[in-house]
Amino acid sequence: MRSLVSPDRKYYYLSITQPPVEIVHDDPDDMQIVIRCPYCGKKTTVGDTVMISGFIGCPHCYWEAGGLLNTVMWIREHDYEEYKKGDFYKAGFKENLKLWEERKNK
Ligand SMILES: [Zn+2]
Repeated sequence: MRSLVSPDRKYYYLSITQPPVEIVHDDPDDMQIVIRCPYCGKKTTVGDTVMISGFIGCPHCYWEAGGLLNTVMWIREHDYEEYKKGDFYKAGFKENLKLWEERKNK
């Protein structure tokens, strides 16, 4: 696989639709490079990241109820313009999890 590390090895390009993420611990194996998840902020490795529609999460924030997977699927169905814009992603995991709980309780 082609390396997506910036020339100064400070950033990693996880997705061409998102800004690069800061490298926390470098490693010669790209999959083992430690980064902070751009969605929840937890440390994870490049190899553990998961993507849907260009939005990246990690095992901490992707699979759980109200996580990135559920959030993207919901927004795609209910607010397509927002889905295309992607502002919800910048709000992050905690904020979207809160919204998910509110929608559930309606
Ligand atoms: Zn995450």
